[in-house]
Amino acid sequence: MAGIYLHVPFCNSRCIYCGFCSTVSKGLRQKYIPALKREISERGDFFSSLYESDRIVKTLYVGGGTPSILPHELLKEAVSAIRETFTIAEEIEFTVEVNPDDITEDYAGSLRRMGVNRVSMGVQSFKDSHLKWMRRRHDSQTAVNAYRILRKAGFDNISLDLIFGFPLMTVRDWEDNLDTIIELSPEHISAYQMGIDPDTPLERMEKSGEFSLPSQEDSERMYKILQAKLKAAGYVQYEVSNFCKPGYHSRHNSSYWNRTPYLGLGPGAHSFIGMAREWNTSDIATWCNLSILTLREGETLSPEDVFNEILMLGLRTAAGVSLDTLRNCGPQSSLFISDLLPKLSAMESNGLITLTPDGKIKIPPGKFFISDGIIRELFV
Ligand code: SF4
Repeated sequence: MAGIYLHVPFCNSRCIYCGFCSTVSKGLRQKYIPALKREISERGDFFSSLYESDRIVKTLYVGGGTPSILPHELLKEAVSAIRETFTIAEEIEFTVEVNPDDITEDYAGSLRRMGVNRVSMGVQSFKDSHLKWMRRRHDSQTAVNAYRILRKAGFDNISLDLIFGFPLMTVRDWEDNLDTIIELSPEHISAYQMGIDPDTPLERMEKSGEFSLPSQEDSERMYKILQAKLKAAGYVQYEVSNFCKPGYHSRHNSSYWNRTPYLGLGPGAHSFIGMAREWNTSDIATWCNLSILTLREGETLSPEDVFNEILMLGLRTAAGVSLDTLRNCGPQSSLFISDLLPKLSAMESNGLITLTPDGKIKIPPGKFFISDGIIRELFV
């Protein structure tokens, strides 16, 4: 199994918290598709070291940026180039990220005709004052309307994103947001705690004393409300920030966590295969203007990196990570396991992790909020 991520690095405006690779400049949009097609052709043999059956691309994820500001004919051109170059599974999970203000009946219909079968929409909040403060371009009603248009167009696998943990948001607001999303009943919900990324307006506001994040206690309270409400509504939490109705987990994101090979196309996109990680330059103008081959960096993972990565990715999921997988993941893994076992046993007695009878290490859902700290402690 293999996956492809396609990065569309354009937005109509910048949100206050955003550290993603994107630009509001319109000048580069014309150059993007020719550059992308060049990259697709240069990367045609990316999966060639895999067994033939593993070369089949089973997930395609178009993210950004804001893919939905790209005229659908251009997106179609990019997708056709991918289809012509790689072996694509018939049952592919094909996701496109959209912003609510771009959704019209025509656009939703064009996505359906292109074969898109999953849409991920950044709602972030159903309170207009929050959206305005975040500098989002939509309001709450636009998000609800967009959701209904997508449903009417026939999408039966929709993911909505929410953000919590910023000072403007009260516990009551968060509960209201969760009630609204539950009522809409999307198949998948991602909920992220607001963070401060470098070089964002939020970081500048924090430095000038205009903004500070709420206490971890307050954010943890919101996280626990999130878990309780979504569980009561029938959603399964399958990862720290991700919830779904049974059977609707994101296959694309799950393949990152399972370390399935994937190819990233577009500026800033990352790729992974075997022991190698690569990343394209995130300088969008440079990427659009020059030959792609010269604009990629990479690293070969050390045995420690591989071990830590399997541990981290697995422990962020509800399925956890198997001790056998860790034991067999590389030449020095039995050495790393002997370092890990005493730490696991201490953490198990503190209730920070669970060791299951079938040999899995898991973080209990009640400790997911502090999973980053737990995982850091376990690194070799
Ligand atoms: S729409 Fe998404 S990618 Fe664009 S600025 Fe906002 S958060 Fe960032």
